Amino acid sequence: MQKILIVEDEEKIARFVELELKHEGYEVEKAFDGRRGLELAESGSYDLILLDIMLPGINGIEILRRIRRSSDVPVIMLTARDAVMDKVSGLDMGADDYITKPFAIEELLARIRVTLRKNSSDSENKSTVLHCSGLTLDSSRFKVTYNGVPVELTAKEFSLLQALIKNKNIVMSRDTLLENVWGYDYIGETNVVDVYVRYLRQKIDEKFNVKIITTVRGVGYVVKED
Ligand code: CA
Repeated sequence: MQKILIVEDEEKIARFVELELKHEGYEVEKAFDGRRGLELAESGSYDLILLDIMLPGINGIEILRRIRRSSDVPVIMLTARDAVMDKVSGLDMGADDYITKPFAIEELLARIRVTLRKNSSDSENKSTVLHCSGLTLDSSRFKVTYNGVPVELTAKEFSLLQALIKNKNIVMSRDTLLENVWGYDYIGETNVVDVYVRYLRQKIDEKFNVKIITTVRGVGYVVKED
């Protein structure tokens, strides 16, 4: 049975949607405020989350941002009429769809079906999506984002980041990275790893003012999950 989380502070709406979803055969849990919503989203395993934006405690955009650090669970945002900015930030942050309140329940049910179907057809590619400290790396689409913001990388930078994230929290020596990314038969400057780490830092750490790629002196590099 597919399980849906509803995060919505208007309890009447939440209960109404819950009834309809149960009637359609879904299992449902709900939260009436942002904190509880985030807690459930992070601890439970859901097939889809319906997420209101204006919530007491933590707002829906922030909840989505935090969910996306570690999960690709499909999220449909519930937005107030004409809240164009909310829709834009929601989609930027990785929402799968949004629906404007007040909505017709049939439309919501249709969007849920479409989103779930789309997600299950994507699922064979799922293992190619890696996450670390706000970074999402999708090898099948060759895309990297930091908290939903696209990061443009060259092929080598991408491969290096991929090698580091695949082994997150494990210190990778320069030689291992060289073999992994440039191959055993690489002939060239041995400091190429350091050069490319520098490029990655410019595009990620410096750009977003974070510290994701750490140097371990005399050993190599590591990316740490925060
Ligand atoms: Ca609300």
